Amino acid sequence: MDLVCPLCNGFKNIEVSCMVCGENMKDGGLVSDYYDDYSPYLPISITSRTDGYPSDQCVHLFYCPECGKDKRIAIQKERV
Ligand SMILES: [Zn+2]
Ligand SMILES: [Zn+2]
Repeated sequence: MDLVCPLCNGFKNIEVSCMVCGENMKDGGLVSDYYDDYSPYLPISITSRTDGYPSDQCVHLFYCPECGKDKRIAIQKERV
């Protein structure tokens, strides 16, 4: 059995409301994807773990298309 993120694999959607304007926020993808842009010099073992989040969670960056606010949401991975 594998632990996979239901959002990354497209079998689940979550709705997140912007705390500023109440608009539905969009899933901007994995936070670790953003880290790769900013820290190419870090080894993968560091960049694949984001800020001490447990490895059974997938951290997505949601952003608001209205006001540009963004927010990290830790998604619990599920067994398939
Ligand atoms: Zn994910
Ligand atoms: Zn907003």
